[in-house]
Amino acid sequence: MILLDGLATSQQIKQEIAVEVQHLKAQGHRPPHLAAVLVGENGASLTYVNAKVKACEEVGFQSTLVRRDGDISESDLLELVKELNSNPDIDGYIIQLPLPTHINEHNVLLAIDPIKDVDGFHPENVGRMALGLPCYLPATPAGIIELLKRYNVPTVGKHCVVIGRSHIVGLPMSILLQRNSYPGNCTVTITHSKTTNLNELCRQADIIVAALGKPEFLKADMVKEGAVVIDVGITRMADPSKKSGFRLAGDVDFAGVSGKCSFITPVPGGVGPMTIVSLLMNTLEARKRQI
Ligand code: NAD
Repeated sequence: MILLDGLATSQQIKQEIAVEVQHLKAQGHRPPHLAAVLVGENGASLTYVNAKVKACEEVGFQSTLVRRDGDISESDLLELVKELNSNPDIDGYIIQLPLPTHINEHNVLLAIDPIKDVDGFHPENVGRMALGLPCYLPATPAGIIELLKRYNVPTVGKHCVVIGRSHIVGLPMSILLQRNSYPGNCTVTITHSKTTNLNELCRQADIIVAALGKPEFLKADMVKEGAVVIDVGITRMADPSKKSGFRLAGDVDFAGVSGKCSFITPVPGGVGPMTIVSLLMNTLEARKRQI
């Protein structure tokens, strides 16, 4: 079994990005600048956004955290989006999801200028991804693709079962894995909460991407010998033995499943750090596009 070490890989990529930032500066350009908008007080969202801001600092990007109260109106948030769109000092920005329920997420995502949409959630970027045109790929699936590539994981002709069809993970993952390129060229089955024969499908899979948000859902009896298992899930589980009061659990029962796998990602230290590094790659790309 080979551990797909997202932490080590992300550190390697960060070094590569830092070198590119130095090149940009040597050519007289300012470094890339990412803004992150955080609405409200969601603890997990704050952790994610802080990690993104810290990663920017590590590679020499500028970063700005824009915080707004959870009761901000949709029109005020749209006004902020407009300002970010027209601010020439910001190359790309993200709106950390989820937003409070009184705000229509779709309206906000639609208002983002696609050239600054480094999360790749705007329909223009999603459409371009589906057509295989240049675009910002959504960070989590892009991070998984990069990890597969860096470990030379065989994908061509493999049967991949994606568990979960969310717009930010499962659906784009299924699109990227079926592309006529490497990593890709998989035969993809996308599954969801209404799928009736999930265990049977998983047992047929060469590659499983678990992205459903149910801790330790994927058990050993659902995985065939030699499978590649990518664990996207992150759930905070109460754990009084930890200083933070919680531990992170993936969607895969790692202890039971890992012994059967050819490759597997750990949680933490697998997909999570690769997601952040993909955002950095998109922001670097945004900077280059806007020079
Ligand atoms: P989501 O809740 O939007 O989607 C979950 C999907 O799982 C849905 O499509 C649903 O139909 C499917 N599902 C639920 N129960 C199922 C079942 N029993 N069988 C099959 N499918 C089922 O979640 P999301 O935003 O895609 O996130 C999924 C998980 O990944 C969460 O734990 C989230 O925290 C994590 N996540 C991690 C990263 C990262 O960087 N590692 C990034 C994004 C999300």
